[in-house]
Amino acid sequence: MVVSDFDAIVIGAGIQGSYAAYHLSKTSKALLIDQFALPHSRGSSHGQSRIIRKAYSKACYAHMMTECYQQWKQLEAEGNIELFRETGLLVLGEEVDPTFQNMKKTLIDNKVPMATLTSADFSKSFPAVKLPKGVSAILDKTAGILQADRALKTVQDLFRRFGGTIRDGEKVVEIQPGYWVTVTTTLGIYRAKSLVITAGPWTNELLNLVGLQLPLKTRRIIVCYWKEKVPGTYGISKGFPCFIRINSGPTLHDFYGLPSNEYPGLVKVCHHDGNNADPDERDINFHLSSQDVNLLSDFLSKEFPGLDPRPAVIEYCMYTNTPDHDFILDHHPDHGNIIIGAGFSGHGFKFAPVVGKVLSELCFGNKPSYDLSPFKINRFWLKSSL
Ligand SMILES: Cc1cc2nc3c(=O)[nH]c(=O)nc-3n(C[C@H](O)[C@H](O)[C@H](O)COP(=O)(O)OP(=O)(O)OC[C@H]3O[C@@H](n4cnc5c(N)ncnc54)[C@H](O)[C@@H]3O)c2cc1C
Repeated sequence: MVVSDFDAIVIGAGIQGSYAAYHLSKTSKALLIDQFALPHSRGSSHGQSRIIRKAYSKACYAHMMTECYQQWKQLEAEGNIELFRETGLLVLGEEVDPTFQNMKKTLIDNKVPMATLTSADFSKSFPAVKLPKGVSAILDKTAGILQADRALKTVQDLFRRFGGTIRDGEKVVEIQPGYWVTVTTTLGIYRAKSLVITAGPWTNELLNLVGLQLPLKTRRIIVCYWKEKVPGTYGISKGFPCFIRINSGPTLHDFYGLPSNEYPGLVKVCHHDGNNADPDERDINFHLSSQDVNLLSDFLSKEFPGLDPRPAVIEYCMYTNTPDHDFILDHHPDHGNIIIGAGFSGHGFKFAPVVGKVLSELCFGNKPSYDLSPFKINRFWLKSSL
């Protein structure tokens, strides 16, 4: 079989791998491989919408957001397409909650346009949301919605336009590390001086081929859409924002939602967690969803009484969680030219432009633009040896 040579190969054409490939293709000959024919809905990057926000409880993420916003804007310009819509984001939580406090602090520290709403302001502005006693609200005015499917396609189209090659419908089955890394798929053999692995929930399956396992949990997430009793009550055109409902109390259930827009009259509200699941068996054991649906129904009945508490549409997606919910952006510990981007823990989409950029910097051996110490693999080994 003929072996094709590239400067860099990226395995996994979700948003992270596609953005890494996009950056690589600006200066080098790059190949992007995916096991499925594109587009597909089996991983973590499909669907119409993702929230983008500057409200973050950890400074390392808040710090990256300025450039993320700039790069998403650049992508819109390069692709001549609209991908972002500003809606604002309500952060709802108890004033004493550490996550709530830290989000407020990073917004203030970074001088992000925001507002703290008194309960009187809140009831006046959002009469269709009933906040329990003790729950406060802040508004990140810069937040909004990224059109996920369109964004992914735009990144891949630009990658091709810059000269990149995509091989989809080819599963990687073997990786031979070395000065030249050799990648064997179900259809071909490719070589490159660097390899990026961005395989989402299949990361450990891929890393098994290069003698590494990371503490990743793959979680099946149900994505629910709920019908407005009066159409438009929580509508984007009426100025209803995205929201995050933090609940670090004894029940520990965080919820988030987006205004009705993508499916008319339906509001997307999800539980920020799910059940452990193998990505290849995501749609088996449907009954496991019912617990999450019940949690969401209870929450909505109490706090969003303008929604029918029975889901109108249910879709599925995968999270790949690390123990601390922070990303992994690092070299393979034994093979410096194999770079890993993984563990995006259900909040990685908005960061893809910067994640792709730092993965491409690691590939070229350049100094990364950001301090990557929170994202290093050795944080797990260091903790487990304590
Ligand atoms: C329901 C839901 C809501 C979310 N909401 C938000 C949000 O509001 N804001 C936000 O910022 N983030 C959000 N996220 C998180 C975000 O979508 C993910 O962090 C991001 O999509 C992860 O992308 P990825 O490229 O790492 O993984 P994936 O999209 O899963 O891509 C991995 C790719 O690797 C390929 N692959 C795997 N193995 C092989 C192989 N052997 N050979 C070839 N190809 C292979 C797969 O086919 C797949 O295409 C959400 C996620 C979900 C599921």
